[in-house]
Amino acid sequence: MSEEKDKAIYSADHCLSCTSCMSSCPVMEATQEYRGPKLVGPAHSRMHFSQEDYEDSLDFCSNCKSCDRACPSGVAVSTLNMLQRGEYYRTHPHKQRDQMLAHGEDMGKLVRSLPFGAACANLGMKIGKSLGVFGMLGIAGKRDMPSYASQSFYSWFKGYKQQPSDKKVVFFPGCFINDNEPQVGIAFVKVMQKNGYEVLVDQKFNCCGSPMVVTGYLDEAKEHAHNNVARILEWKAKGIPVIACCTSCSLMLKEEYGELFGEDEMHEAGANVYDAFEYLAIMEEKGELNTSFKEVKESLMYHVPCHLKSQGFGTPAKDILEEVPGVSVELADAGCCGISGNFGFKDDKYEISMKVGAKLFERINISQADEVICDCGTCRMQINHGTQVKPCHPIEILAKAYGE
Ligand code: SF4
Ligand code: SF4
Repeated sequence: MSEEKDKAIYSADHCLSCTSCMSSCPVMEATQEYRGPKLVGPAHSRMHFSQEDYEDSLDFCSNCKSCDRACPSGVAVSTLNMLQRGEYYRTHPHKQRDQMLAHGEDMGKLVRSLPFGAACANLGMKIGKSLGVFGMLGIAGKRDMPSYASQSFYSWFKGYKQQPSDKKVVFFPGCFINDNEPQVGIAFVKVMQKNGYEVLVDQKFNCCGSPMVVTGYLDEAKEHAHNNVARILEWKAKGIPVIACCTSCSLMLKEEYGELFGEDEMHEAGANVYDAFEYLAIMEEKGELNTSFKEVKESLMYHVPCHLKSQGFGTPAKDILEEVPGVSVELADAGCCGISGNFGFKDDKYEISMKVGAKLFERINISQADEVICDCGTCRMQINHGTQVKPCHPIEILAKAYGE
């Protein structure tokens, strides 16, 4: 892409006012309070850089990126929204809940530093919910906050003996897999071992910054980007790729740093990052994927996260899992689940988030599938909240196919 075209996309100069983004925006469909991507993104950003004003309804954008995918001109609409939101919070105070929703990594570190920290935090969250404390802070009182696993992924990893190999990848667990669903990272490590890879971790990585970007802490997110990009480039120099099992983390590391902050090194680092099944598909293309699968008799309903769709590599999890004897995979094909990171955790966005997810909930509720799979942790939480079904990550099914 030429430099001039690149800049135009991030400054909205290529917007044709066709309104495709508006008809694809799930939040706009769910509430009339949101004026929609074209007005708050391209149109407003043109004015915003020349005058001091703010579009109130910008607060409704969940950064699901459906608009970006719909735009025939390639305008980075959601990025414009996040940049404007970040600009606003440089001069305006955050709500109390924003601090909490954007900094899950800090809370996780605190919990892990205390004896019985996970158990105490889980109990505290239960009591807090029943007393309505979260509601008072501006967090949706009907939701459960994600509970902490008794052992973090990093702690499990320290005690796990791997077969060493010259073929190596670095695993980026992200906050949610490390603290809340370590079983996803464990499954990833076991899958890679079955493929002759040794998995490394790098605890100098920070949270990818996605919760900060969507909550308007853009400067902090940039600091995280600088640290993570430096780490990725160090691994790149050694010829070792970085892989994530959460599609919001992989999207942030691969693309959003470059889109938001525009530094060349961010694009360079992004090229060394892969989502887990994207990497497994590349291995398969090279004839390197171990396909000695055991039978797994399961019909799966697959909710493809918005942030996976945005990465544009199709649905390799479906393709690979369909090679496992006994497995069938049906796409839910029901749009956004509505949670969009921390969007659905905000009390004033809760009803919208549930309305957006209603089609998916219905699809799952009437489905005869044995399991629901999804590559994003917060989508899995939303599906669980909206249907009572507990989904898993597709990598967990693949681990089963390897007898793990
Ligand atoms: S990112 Fe999602 S919520 Fe935000 S404007 Fe685009 S489609 Fe709408
Ligand atoms: S889809 Fe793209 S070109 Fe069309 S109105 Fe939205 S931003 Fe502009």
